[in-house]
Amino acid sequence: MRLAHQQSDYVRAHRHCMENRVEVEASALCGCFYCMSIYPPSEIVDWIDDKEALTADCPRCGIDAVIGSASGFPITSEFLNLMNEHWFEGHRSSDRV
Ligand SMILES: [Zn+2]
Repeated sequence: MRLAHQQSDYVRAHRHCMENRVEVEASALCGCFYCMSIYPPSEIVDWIDDKEALTADCPRCGIDAVIGSASGFPITSEFLNLMNEHWFEGHRSSDRV
């Protein structure tokens, strides 16, 4: 019997891209699963004022799809790729140009 509520990492990681200022600033690295960039949190200059806290805005593509390594999820191109496929159905910022 499978546990229906057990979600994949790339699904659970999504909540870490919202209201994540404290976590992102505590991270060594962060990554964006829209443009697939990986950079230190010091590069983030824009923060979106969400309900409970501030949300990181990607300095490369301007989308709030940033996850910090302090979330416990791997900030690797493989993992960002999985998240991109799931949440953006494979659409990336480079598709727009
Ligand atoms: Zn980005």
